[in-house]
Amino acid sequence: MEKTTIVALATPPAKAALAIVRLSGPNAIGITDRIWMGRRPLAEAEPRKAILGTIAGPDGQPLDQAVVTIYRAPASFTGEDSVEITVHGSTYIASQLIEALVQAGATPASPGEYSMRAFLNGRLDLAQAEAIADLIGAESRAAHRLAYTQASGQYSARLKTLHEQLLHLLSLIELELDFSEEDVQFASRNQFLQLAYDLHDEIDSLIATYRAGCALKDGITVVITGLPNAGKSTLLNALAGDTKAIVSDIPGTTRDLIEATVLHHGLKYRFIDTAGLRSTDDPIESQGISLAADATSRATMIIRLIDSVNHLNAGSQLDELRRLTPVPQGTPEILVVNKADRIRSIIEMPGLDLITLVRGPIAGPVGISALKGEHIGKLWTLLHTIATKTVNPSDTLLITNARHLEALRSASASLGRLVDAIAADLPTDLIAQEARHASASLADITGAITTPDILRNIFSRFCIGK
Ligand code: GDP
Repeated sequence: MEKTTIVALATPPAKAALAIVRLSGPNAIGITDRIWMGRRPLAEAEPRKAILGTIAGPDGQPLDQAVVTIYRAPASFTGEDSVEITVHGSTYIASQLIEALVQAGATPASPGEYSMRAFLNGRLDLAQAEAIADLIGAESRAAHRLAYTQASGQYSARLKTLHEQLLHLLSLIELELDFSEEDVQFASRNQFLQLAYDLHDEIDSLIATYRAGCALKDGITVVITGLPNAGKSTLLNALAGDTKAIVSDIPGTTRDLIEATVLHHGLKYRFIDTAGLRSTDDPIESQGISLAADATSRATMIIRLIDSVNHLNAGSQLDELRRLTPVPQGTPEILVVNKADRIRSIIEMPGLDLITLVRGPIAGPVGISALKGEHIGKLWTLLHTIATKTVNPSDTLLITNARHLEALRSASASLGRLVDAIAADLPTDLIAQEARHASASLADITGAITTPDILRNIFSRFCIGK
């Protein structure tokens, strides 16, 4: 595969000011020269310098003025000879250019092939390659910072340190194994145990960052729960209001959840409006409730929207909401009293003053009028305060990738068994085996050891041209 020279459009396939076509592989420069109508061949050009000239289309006729930059291996993104051709952003020109390059000997790239080549040529590790995809996908300041840190290798460096500590433990164990016949003990089992405990702890603390990592990367999920007619949809619109929120149905459900994505102070929020919550025998409505309960169980925080004109008092409404959508321990809840325009003051709302006393911790209450857009700013302030307490946006060494989470969990499980094996004074080779498992799991993350199948699977999720 490394022998071919690949070509793809690096910019979106749409009308734009410019389009960039990129080639990578041993013949990248030679192939481009075949369609290059400039005075001097590109093979003689200085790398990393923009050169202006005409390029020919598949029929050999001039196609466009282009700016061409060549890169010589290994000093390129992929580590191979590469060429970037910038032309006018016409979809016709871009497709003709690619056709001409394919005629001249290039092969259309498959998804993620540039990044995969960069990885295979040691230009970046697997975690960095994945972070580049995240960097391109980042939609908020927090998501960008996370992806940037990972792409620049700081995250890989932390994993590498962990891996080195693990290899140190493994080498101590293997040393003992090698000399076991001679009855020499190089490191005491207590020393093994301490090292293993420390590693286990550190890996578990990384695993624990996944929730916050996902919230920063994919959005802080705020589920809005309230009895039917409390004003959930109205609140969702008010929160999404002056931003360009995408209000969309989550597909595949009968009683849909509605979601709006909003950027606020550098953080991305995903507000989810649950279907009207109420006890019911209707199977379709029950499905809505179970969807709501499911969303609630995964939420970063939960709004309990109380209707100030409902016949039930505030405490009874909250009880009902908590019964229908129980909250996992530790997920913050916010008490919001809606339709404040219908009462003189939310203090009048029966049962409100005693809520925290009787029913346990909940933030708020904030009185709002979702319909009139009153006090939505106050609610935002509270949301932001709780969000930044739950996830620290300046924390950049967080797990955001499910594949990494799996690998860390597997390493943690092996280390757990290793600790048990040491404590039970089991034979050293059993202990060594667990240490090797844990090491292999950690190596999976940065791709120190991988199979072609795993690589294909990871990179096939990238888009073409990346
Ligand atoms: P949902 O069933 O919880 O999604 O509630 P909706 O958002 O559909 O609102 C139910 C009704 O309450 C609608 O007629 C809204 O116009 C009304 N409503 C929502 N918010 C307010 C508010 O702040 N004040 C008043 N007076 N009415 C509201």
